[in-house]
Amino acid sequence: MDARIEALLAQHKLLTDVEPTIVQAPGRVNLLGEHTDYSGGFCMPAALSFNTLIAVSPRTDGVVRVRSVDFDQTAGVEIATLPAKGAGEWKDYPVGVLWALLQRGVAIAGADLTLQGNVPLGSGLSSSASVEVATATALLHVAGVTLTGAEIALLCQKAENLYVGAPCGIMDQFISANGKKDHALALDTRSLSFELAPLPGTVRLVVSNSMVKHSIGGGEYGTRRAEVEAGAAALGVPMLRDATLTDLQRKQSQMPDNVYRRARHVISDSQRVLDGVEALRAGDVRLFGQIMNEAHVSYRDDFEASCDECDLLQTIALALPGCFGARLTGGGFGGCTVNLVEAAASEAFAASLAEKYHAATGIKPDVYVCEIGDGAGVVA
Ligand code: ADP
Ligand code: MG
Repeated sequence: MDARIEALLAQHKLLTDVEPTIVQAPGRVNLLGEHTDYSGGFCMPAALSFNTLIAVSPRTDGVVRVRSVDFDQTAGVEIATLPAKGAGEWKDYPVGVLWALLQRGVAIAGADLTLQGNVPLGSGLSSSASVEVATATALLHVAGVTLTGAEIALLCQKAENLYVGAPCGIMDQFISANGKKDHALALDTRSLSFELAPLPGTVRLVVSNSMVKHSIGGGEYGTRRAEVEAGAAALGVPMLRDATLTDLQRKQSQMPDNVYRRARHVISDSQRVLDGVEALRAGDVRLFGQIMNEAHVSYRDDFEASCDECDLLQTIALALPGCFGARLTGGGFGGCTVNLVEAAASEAFAASLAEKYHAATGIKPDVYVCEIGDGAGVVA
C-alpha cells in the first residue's frame, strides 16, 4: 500500500475503528486566464497530482469530526447546532462544505474525516479548494448522494464565499472536481461548459514557488475584484465577458487609467484561453508558450499583480534551454510561476531555475516537475 495512505489510515484509527473510504481532490495550476472567473470569462487550469486525501467513516449521531493530520488538530461540530459562519480557522473550509451540503438538502447523519494534504499551502496552487472538494466528495459518499462535478464545484465555492468569507471565483473548485490526467481544462465560467485539451507528452509543467507572498489576508484580491467590477460598470455591461477590447478602447476616456488597464487584462486574458485551446488542438507548444508569456506581461503591467521575485523567476526561466513559456500563476502578488518545458529538459531546467533564483535572491525556491492528475474521486 502507498505509504501516504497507510499513514492516513493509522491517523484515522485515532478517530474511529469504523472502516473508512478514501477519497482525494487535487490542487491546481492555472495555465491561462487569471482573475477572469468572476467576470464570466474563460480560464484554463490543470489539476495537479498534489492533492488532499480524506479517510471518511459514517456516524449516526449527528456529529461530524474532522482531523487535519497536517495541523495535528481535530474539530468537532454538531449538525443540529452548526454555526452559520466560520470563525477564521482551518476547519471553516471542511465545515463550510458540510454547511453548504446541508443547505442544499443533502441528508448527512454524521461522519469522521481525517484529512492530509500535500498541496503547498497559500502558494496559489489552491490547497483550499482541494480541501473543500475532498470534503464534499467524502460527505457525499457517506450520504450515498451523487452530484455532478459542476454542482460540487458550485457548493464548494459557496462554502468559501459565504462560510469562510473569501470572495473566490469558480475556477479552483471546478478543476479540482472535474480535472483529467494529462489534460488542461478550458472553462467557460459563465455557462460552466468546458473542453479538455491534452498536453503533449513531449512537455512538462514545472511549477516554481517564489516563496514570497506580498498581500496579507487577500486584501489585494478584493481591490482588484472591485476594480474589475468598476470596469464593467463603466462599460455598462453586467460583466467584462460582455465587452470586447474595441468597446473598452472606445470608452477609455470615461474611466480611470487603473480601471481601464485591469479591464484590458481581463478581456485579453480571457481571449488568450481561446487562443491557447487552438494552439493545443494543433499540438503547437511553442505558440502556447508565447501566449503564456504574453499573459505574464498583461498580468504584470496591466493588472499589476506580479512582484519582483515572480518577474525574476519568469526572466530566468525564459533564458533556460527547453522553456517554451513562463508566467505567474494564481491570484498574484507572489506565489508560484508555471513553466512549459520540454520533457527531456525539465529536470535540468528545474535545477538551474532553483540555483539561479537562489543566487540572485538568497531564497531557496520549491520547484516541482508536475504530473497533471485526475479530478476528485474515491481512491480506495
Ligand atoms: P491556497 O488555496 O492558495 O493554498 P488559501 O489561503 O486559499 O491558499 O487556503 C489555505 C488554507 O486552507 C489554510 O490556511 C488552511 O486553513 C486550509 N487548508 C489547506 N490545506 C489544509 C490541510 N491539509 N489541513 C488543514 N487545513 C488546510
Ligand atoms: Mg485558496
